Amino acid sequence: MVPTFLDYIKKFLKVYEKVICFGLVLFITPGFYIFELTIVRPSVVKIYKLSFYEEVFHIICSTFCFINVVGNMILSIFTDTSLKTWIPEGDTYCELCQIKRPAKAWHCKACNACILRRDHHCFFFSRCIGLYNQRYYVAYLGYIFISMVYSTYYNYLYVAAKFQDHGFALSAFRIINPLLRFMIPEPMGMNDLCVLLIFLNVGLIIWSGSLFWFHMGNVLRGVTAHEYRNSGPIDKSMWKINLSNVFGVKWYWALIWPFAESPLP
Ligand SMILES: [Zn+2]
Ligand SMILES: [Zn+2]
Repeated sequence: MVPTFLDYIKKFLKVYEKVICFGLVLFITPGFYIFELTIVRPSVVKIYKLSFYEEVFHIICSTFCFINVVGNMILSIFTDTSLKTWIPEGDTYCELCQIKRPAKAWHCKACNACILRRDHHCFFFSRCIGLYNQRYYVAYLGYIFISMVYSTYYNYLYVAAKFQDHGFALSAFRIINPLLRFMIPEPMGMNDLCVLLIFLNVGLIIWSGSLFWFHMGNVLRGVTAHEYRNSGPIDKSMWKINLSNVFGVKWYWALIWPFAESPLP
Protein backbone atom coordinates (compact mmCIF):
# COMPACT_ATOMS: atom_id res chain seq x y z
CA MET A 1 0.00 0.00 0.00
CA VAL A 2 1.33 3.46 -0.92
CA PRO A 3 1.72 5.63 2.21
CA THR A 4 -0.59 8.64 2.27
CA PHE A 5 0.27 12.20 3.24
CA LEU A 6 -1.35 11.55 6.64
CA ASP A 7 0.99 8.58 7.21
CA TYR A 8 3.99 10.84 6.63
CA ILE A 9 2.58 13.41 9.08
CA LYS A 10 2.07 10.65 11.68
CA LYS A 11 5.61 9.36 11.16
CA PHE A 12 7.01 12.87 11.43
CA LEU A 13 5.10 13.47 14.70
CA LYS A 14 6.48 10.22 16.15
CA VAL A 15 10.07 11.22 15.35
CA TYR A 16 9.38 14.75 16.60
CA GLU A 17 8.06 13.32 19.90
CA LYS A 18 11.29 11.33 20.37
CA VAL A 19 13.49 14.34 19.51
CA ILE A 20 11.66 16.48 22.11
CA CYS A 21 12.04 13.65 24.64
CA PHE A 22 15.81 13.25 24.16
CA GLY A 23 16.33 17.02 24.00
CA LEU A 24 14.58 17.36 27.34
CA VAL A 25 16.68 14.64 28.99
CA LEU A 26 20.08 15.28 27.42
CA PHE A 27 20.19 19.03 26.89
CA ILE A 28 17.46 21.26 28.33
CA THR A 29 17.33 19.97 31.94
CA PRO A 30 21.12 19.54 32.50
CA GLY A 31 21.72 22.81 30.60
CA PHE A 32 19.40 24.70 32.92
CA TYR A 33 21.10 23.24 36.00
CA ILE A 34 24.61 24.05 34.69
CA PHE A 35 23.49 27.61 33.85
CA GLU A 36 22.13 28.10 37.38
CA LEU A 37 25.23 26.69 39.02
CA THR A 38 27.93 28.32 36.89
CA ILE A 39 26.40 31.69 35.93
CA VAL A 40 23.59 32.63 38.33
CA ARG A 41 25.13 31.24 41.54
CA PRO A 42 28.53 33.05 41.42
CA SER A 43 26.83 36.35 40.46
CA VAL A 44 24.22 36.18 43.22
CA VAL A 45 26.89 35.17 45.78
CA LYS A 46 29.03 38.14 44.75
CA ILE A 47 26.31 40.81 44.43
CA TYR A 48 24.35 39.88 47.56
CA LYS A 49 27.44 38.81 49.58
CA LEU A 50 26.19 35.35 50.57
CA SER A 51 28.32 33.49 53.12
CA PHE A 52 30.20 30.26 52.35
CA TYR A 53 27.61 28.20 54.26
CA GLU A 54 24.71 29.81 52.42
CA GLU A 55 26.41 29.02 49.12
CA VAL A 56 27.00 25.37 50.09
CA PHE A 57 23.38 25.15 51.27
CA HIS A 58 22.15 26.33 47.85
CA ILE A 59 24.44 23.93 45.99
CA ILE A 60 23.06 21.01 48.04
CA CYS A 61 19.42 22.12 47.60
CA SER A 62 19.72 22.68 43.85
CA THR A 63 21.56 19.36 43.34
CA PHE A 64 18.85 17.55 45.33
CA CYS A 65 16.16 19.11 43.08
CA PHE A 66 18.18 18.30 39.95
CA ILE A 67 18.63 14.61 40.90
CA ASN A 68 14.92 14.31 41.63
CA VAL A 69 13.92 15.98 38.35
CA VAL A 70 16.31 13.95 36.17
CA GLY A 71 15.91 10.67 38.11
CA ASN A 72 12.12 10.78 37.99
CA MET A 73 12.17 11.86 34.35
CA ILE A 74 14.47 9.03 33.23
CA LEU A 75 12.63 6.40 35.27
CA SER A 76 9.31 7.69 33.92
CA ILE A 77 10.56 7.30 30.34
CA PHE A 78 12.26 3.93 30.75
CA THR A 79 9.69 2.16 32.92
CA ASP A 80 7.53 0.03 30.67
CA THR A 81 3.99 -0.12 31.95
CA SER A 82 2.44 -1.93 28.98
CA LEU A 83 0.64 -5.23 29.21
CA LYS A 84 2.56 -7.83 27.28
CA THR A 85 1.43 -11.05 28.88
CA TRP A 86 -1.91 -12.75 28.51
CA ILE A 87 -3.88 -12.47 31.71
CA PRO A 88 -6.59 -15.17 31.92
CA GLU A 89 -8.62 -13.28 34.54
CA GLY A 90 -8.72 -10.08 32.45
CA ASP A 91 -11.96 -8.07 32.43
CA THR A 92 -12.01 -6.90 28.83
CA TYR A 93 -10.47 -7.98 25.53
CA CYS A 94 -8.26 -5.85 23.26
CA GLU A 95 -8.86 -6.58 19.57
CA LEU A 96 -5.60 -4.91 18.55
CA CYS A 97 -3.23 -6.66 21.01
CA GLN A 98 -5.45 -9.77 21.09
CA ILE A 99 -5.13 -10.15 24.83
CA LYS A 100 -7.42 -10.03 27.83
CA ARG A 101 -6.69 -7.14 30.13
CA PRO A 102 -7.55 -6.22 33.72
CA ALA A 103 -9.75 -3.28 34.75
CA LYS A 104 -8.32 0.21 34.09
CA ALA A 105 -6.00 -1.13 31.36
CA TRP A 106 -6.52 0.66 28.03
CA HIS A 107 -5.01 0.51 24.60
CA CYS A 108 -2.78 3.41 23.54
CA LYS A 109 -2.54 4.05 19.80
CA ALA A 110 0.74 5.99 20.13
CA CYS A 111 2.47 3.22 22.14
CA ASN A 112 0.64 0.50 20.18
CA ALA A 113 0.08 -1.53 23.36
CA CYS A 114 -2.35 -1.99 26.20
CA ILE A 115 -1.21 -0.03 29.25
CA LEU A 116 -1.81 -1.19 32.82
CA ARG A 117 -3.94 1.34 34.76
CA ARG A 118 -3.46 3.81 31.92
CA ASP A 119 -3.53 7.44 33.00
CA HIS A 120 -2.57 9.25 29.78
CA HIS A 121 0.02 9.33 27.00
CA CYS A 122 2.72 11.88 27.80
CA PHE A 123 3.91 13.66 24.66
CA PHE A 124 7.14 15.01 26.22
CA PHE A 125 8.19 11.60 27.55
CA SER A 126 6.98 9.79 24.43
CA ARG A 127 5.54 7.19 26.79
CA CYS A 128 2.26 6.23 28.44
CA ILE A 129 1.85 6.98 32.13
CA GLY A 130 0.37 4.02 33.96
CA LEU A 131 0.68 1.60 36.86
CA TYR A 132 4.48 1.33 37.08
CA ASN A 133 5.66 4.83 36.15
CA GLN A 134 2.97 7.17 37.50
CA ARG A 135 4.96 7.51 40.70
CA TYR A 136 7.92 8.98 38.80
CA TYR A 137 5.77 11.18 36.60
CA VAL A 138 3.90 12.87 39.49
CA ALA A 139 7.13 13.29 41.50
CA TYR A 140 8.79 14.78 38.41
CA LEU A 141 6.04 17.43 38.13
CA GLY A 142 6.33 18.24 41.84
CA TYR A 143 10.10 18.70 41.66
CA ILE A 144 9.89 20.77 38.47
CA PHE A 145 7.49 23.06 40.34
CA ILE A 146 9.76 23.33 43.42
CA SER A 147 12.85 23.88 41.22
CA MET A 148 11.11 26.58 39.21
CA VAL A 149 9.90 28.52 42.27
CA TYR A 150 13.40 28.23 43.75
CA SER A 151 15.25 29.24 40.58
CA THR A 152 12.84 32.07 39.72
CA TYR A 153 13.67 33.80 42.99
CA TYR A 154 17.43 33.63 42.38
CA ASN A 155 17.13 34.33 38.65
CA TYR A 156 15.13 37.43 39.54
CA LEU A 157 17.91 38.60 41.90
CA TYR A 158 20.46 37.88 39.17
CA VAL A 159 18.55 39.69 36.41
CA ALA A 160 17.36 42.63 38.55
CA ALA A 161 20.98 43.48 39.40
CA LYS A 162 21.62 44.14 35.69
CA PHE A 163 19.09 47.00 35.59
CA GLN A 164 18.96 50.38 37.23
CA ASP A 165 15.87 52.21 38.56
CA HIS A 166 12.83 51.13 36.50
CA GLY A 167 14.82 49.33 33.81
CA PHE A 168 13.55 45.86 34.73
CA ALA A 169 9.87 46.86 34.60
CA LEU A 170 10.38 48.69 31.29
CA SER A 171 12.12 45.69 29.76
CA ALA A 172 9.33 43.38 30.97
CA PHE A 173 6.71 45.71 29.44
CA ARG A 174 8.58 45.80 26.17
CA ILE A 175 8.52 41.99 26.02
CA ILE A 176 4.81 41.77 26.84
CA ASN A 177 3.85 44.55 24.44
CA PRO A 178 6.05 44.79 21.33
CA LEU A 179 4.30 48.08 20.38
CA LEU A 180 6.15 49.72 23.27
CA ARG A 181 9.36 49.30 21.26
CA PHE A 182 8.31 52.28 19.19
CA MET A 183 7.95 54.42 22.32
CA ILE A 184 11.09 53.09 24.06
CA PRO A 185 13.41 52.70 21.08
CA GLU A 186 16.27 50.95 22.85
CA PRO A 187 17.63 47.95 20.99
CA MET A 188 16.82 44.53 22.36
CA GLY A 189 19.97 43.47 24.17
CA MET A 190 21.19 40.68 26.46
CA ASN A 191 19.31 42.21 29.40
CA ASP A 192 15.99 41.80 27.60
CA LEU A 193 16.88 38.16 26.96
CA CYS A 194 17.51 37.74 30.70
CA VAL A 195 14.03 39.12 31.40
CA LEU A 196 12.70 36.52 28.98
CA LEU A 197 14.31 33.90 31.24
CA ILE A 198 12.14 35.13 34.13
CA PHE A 199 9.05 34.88 31.89
CA LEU A 200 10.04 31.31 31.01
CA ASN A 201 10.49 30.53 34.71
CA VAL A 202 7.05 31.93 35.61
CA GLY A 203 5.44 30.06 32.70
CA LEU A 204 6.98 26.80 33.90
CA ILE A 205 5.78 27.47 37.47
CA ILE A 206 2.20 27.81 36.21
CA TRP A 207 2.51 24.80 33.86
CA SER A 208 4.10 22.38 36.35
CA GLY A 209 2.10 23.66 39.33
CA SER A 210 -1.28 23.18 37.66
CA LEU A 211 -0.34 19.74 36.28
CA PHE A 212 1.00 18.62 39.66
CA TRP A 213 -2.17 19.86 41.38
CA PHE A 214 -4.36 17.97 38.89
CA HIS A 215 -2.41 14.68 38.93
CA MET A 216 -1.73 14.63 42.68
CA GLY A 217 -5.46 15.30 43.25
CA ASN A 218 -6.26 12.26 41.08
CA VAL A 219 -3.71 10.13 42.96
CA LEU A 220 -5.27 11.07 46.32
CA ARG A 221 -8.78 10.40 44.96
CA GLY A 222 -7.63 7.05 43.57
CA VAL A 223 -8.72 7.83 39.99
CA THR A 224 -6.98 8.08 36.61
CA ALA A 225 -7.11 11.13 34.35
CA HIS A 226 -9.93 9.38 32.41
CA GLU A 227 -12.05 8.91 35.53
CA TYR A 228 -11.46 12.43 36.82
CA ARG A 229 -14.78 13.85 35.53
CA ASN A 230 -16.84 11.33 37.50
CA SER A 231 -14.84 11.60 40.73
CA GLY A 232 -15.88 13.38 43.89
CA PRO A 233 -13.83 15.19 46.54
CA ILE A 234 -10.83 13.51 48.23
CA ASP A 235 -11.92 10.88 50.77
CA LYS A 236 -9.87 11.71 53.87
CA SER A 237 -9.90 8.12 55.16
CA MET A 238 -8.51 6.80 51.86
CA TRP A 239 -5.67 9.16 50.94
CA LYS A 240 -2.90 7.00 52.44
CA ILE A 241 -4.11 3.87 50.63
CA ASN A 242 -4.53 5.78 47.38
CA LEU A 243 -1.08 7.32 47.75
CA SER A 244 0.55 3.91 48.29
CA ASN A 245 -1.30 2.50 45.25
CA VAL A 246 0.77 4.88 43.12
CA PHE A 247 3.93 5.59 45.13
CA GLY A 248 4.20 2.15 46.76
CA VAL A 249 4.15 1.08 50.39
CA LYS A 250 7.11 3.32 51.21
CA TRP A 251 5.49 6.36 49.56
CA TYR A 252 7.25 8.79 51.94
CA TRP A 253 10.64 7.65 50.54
CA ALA A 254 9.39 7.56 46.96
CA LEU A 255 8.35 11.20 47.30
CA ILE A 256 11.84 12.39 48.24
CA TRP A 257 14.09 9.98 46.32
CA PRO A 258 13.43 8.59 42.82
CA PHE A 259 15.65 5.52 43.35
CA ALA A 260 14.01 4.49 46.66
CA GLU A 261 12.52 1.01 46.56
CA SER A 262 8.82 1.17 47.22
CA PRO A 263 6.90 -1.87 45.95
CA LEU A 264 3.24 -1.47 45.00
CA PRO A 265 0.82 -3.10 47.47
ZN1 LIG B 1 -4.26 -3.27 23.22
ZN1 LIG C 1 0.94 5.75 24.99
